[in-house]
Amino acid sequence: MQFLMLWHRMTSQQAPLVARTVAELKSHLDQLRIKRAGAPVVFVPTMGALHDGHRALMTRASQYNGISVASIFVNPTQFGPNEDLAKYPRTWEADLQLCADEGINVVFAPTVDQMYGDNPESTLSAGPLGARLEGAQRPGHFDGVVTVVAKLFDMVHPDRAIFGQKDAQQVAVIRSMVRDLELPIEIEAFPTVRDSDGLAMSSRNVYLSHTEREQALAIPRALVAADQAGSEGVQAVLEAATNELAGEPEMHVRYVELVRPDTLEPVPANFHGDALLLIAAMVGTARLIDNSMVTVG
Ligand code: AMP
Repeated sequence: MQFLMLWHRMTSQQAPLVARTVAELKSHLDQLRIKRAGAPVVFVPTMGALHDGHRALMTRASQYNGISVASIFVNPTQFGPNEDLAKYPRTWEADLQLCADEGINVVFAPTVDQMYGDNPESTLSAGPLGARLEGAQRPGHFDGVVTVVAKLFDMVHPDRAIFGQKDAQQVAVIRSMVRDLELPIEIEAFPTVRDSDGLAMSSRNVYLSHTEREQALAIPRALVAADQAGSEGVQAVLEAATNELAGEPEMHVRYVELVRPDTLEPVPANFHGDALLLIAAMVGTARLIDNSMVTVG
């Protein structure tokens, strides 16, 4: 029965149209917009090496019964000079299959040259929201993110774009970019998809050895411990998370912060309400981030 359902799903989905250039993308979208006038365009930007977290975003995109577009582009401008751009996993065939399985209509996979041409001079700034947390440790990262996302938005013209809450600061930065530039795009944040052991799915998890993966599990444990300490206040939440992480001395914690979900400002010690707990840590060569909402007080 399961096999039949899978077979039906595989045969009922049409292969996505693939665009390698902006001209191809526009031509595919023009065709689809004529065929399906009024259908919303729903967009999922990714860097490829797709996993079940990405898959969930694509399933969601297809649920709108509109024109679904995914991009696969490892954006060099959001990587720092000593980061993993060169070794970032690239799994094109499997990615395309996943997009097909999820009913994506168009896959846009441009080259760096298509996206940036020769010596581009103008970039967007993510502003103060992009300078905190991840931005403080990865200078220029969110400027690279908002610039590429704005360019992709301009090429795809989506009505809605779906991002993972796993990258909570990215969602906040993109929401503020969309607000500031008055782009008519609905931004949807999709809940974090986790492996059965609790680790948030990430393309970077392939860098982890078996032992490192065991160490990394302290991150989801810290989020659970923090949640359980919620009723005892801000200090207790932070201590619960920090203590759990300290149990894995091989892991290098980069930050543990409890912030207001919209502004990402640290909450005051007497805060009551919903706050976002953000964790970043290096495990081996992998930089891992995770977060969850905590009800404090
Ligand atoms: P990336 O390819 O890492 O740039 O991710 C593309 C999109 O997938 C981003 O909006 C991410 O936040 C989202 N994403 C990545 N991992 C997960 C996950 N485990 N659960 C939900 N969304 C995710």
